[in-house]
Amino acid sequence: MDSQTQAVIDSRALDKLIQLLLQRGYEVVGPVVREGAIIYDQIEGLKDLPAGWTDEQDGGKYRLARRADAALFGYVVGPHSWKRFLHPPRQRLWSAKRGGASFQVSAERQSETKYAFIGVRACELAAIAIQDKVFLEGAHVDPIYRTRRENSFIVAVNCGQAGGTCFCVSMNTGPKATFGYDIALTEVLQEGRHVFVVQADTERGAEVLNAIPHVSATPQDLKVASEIVDETARHMGRSMETAGIKELLTRNYGHPRWDDVASRCLTCANCTMVCPTCFCTTVEDVTDLTGQNAERWRNWDSCFTMDFSYIAGGSIRSSARSRYRQWMTHKLATWIDQFGSSGCVGCGRCITWCPVGIDITEEAHAIRESDSAVIAGESRMEKA
Ligand code: SF4
Ligand code: SF4
Repeated sequence: MDSQTQAVIDSRALDKLIQLLLQRGYEVVGPVVREGAIIYDQIEGLKDLPAGWTDEQDGGKYRLARRADAALFGYVVGPHSWKRFLHPPRQRLWSAKRGGASFQVSAERQSETKYAFIGVRACELAAIAIQDKVFLEGAHVDPIYRTRRENSFIVAVNCGQAGGTCFCVSMNTGPKATFGYDIALTEVLQEGRHVFVVQADTERGAEVLNAIPHVSATPQDLKVASEIVDETARHMGRSMETAGIKELLTRNYGHPRWDDVASRCLTCANCTMVCPTCFCTTVEDVTDLTGQNAERWRNWDSCFTMDFSYIAGGSIRSSARSRYRQWMTHKLATWIDQFGSSGCVGCGRCITWCPVGIDITEEAHAIRESDSAVIAGESRMEKA
């Protein structure tokens, strides 16, 4: 089997795939139903996947619901993203122990965990590629991210439905996985048949696929799989016009919409915590009560906190207006200057998990609708 071969497997073979990855020493992480949501956690087999569950999403709203079938990947994305495994929320960097008049510093040992991620969506592959750029391709490589990333095996899933807050089509990141995976699955539930059309995209993906029961995909199987993804693309819950968005936002720093959104934003930072591309951290030193032991930790941080922009005696972004504007213009505009792509992959998490339902697509649309440059141009034309 070459690395581009497509095949068809059934659910038992998918369980075998998980068992094989476990036997090869991977910690297998996949979707599970927990605390009223579908999150990512360690799994031991097919029995742990959210069979027959789906999610209903809208601005500030997430609900689990039962499906009429037994789909294993019949949901969209939840509050977790894979960044919590590749770029952990809390990470000790080193510890120190006092000994007499001096102290001894010990570097943290790198995690040797090999992850296999099951159910990675196309938008999430795009988010991982963005974090690769941030952590691996700049002047400073992050050794924690690098070790975890190099060891990861990725089983992607092409989306069979779009969520109420998805807009990957606008961001050109989905719903079909096109890169960055070892194996990609399309779940097919039709006329009593429950199978997965599988594409291996790397040699190790092909080797793993070869080691589980499969049959070659027929042209009809490929057609069905392709129609499923096309149908998903036609049903995005949201959309965003991205043409010229960088210029649009950077010429509208003074737009009144920033005051409007600030009157609703709680600066709670939820949007940055759930976003699969946000990567900012802070560093904290702690000691124990004896004063003998100290540790340095790296924790996820957010541009929505006051402390984040604390410089020389004060925060340079003291208002909700300046913090929301910083976040959104970084995501959609200055990220392009910094990393060569948008910082948004259209996953919709920031919309779903914002407690007051602030919607990045709606905010961008509102600014486009009343773009200061266009309005100035129109009023010039009216006067003429
Ligand atoms: S936009 Fe929503 S999620 Fe983000 S900080 Fe404001 S209130 Fe919180
Ligand atoms: S900004 Fe929102 S929609 Fe875009 S990648 Fe982050 S969480 Fe997803």
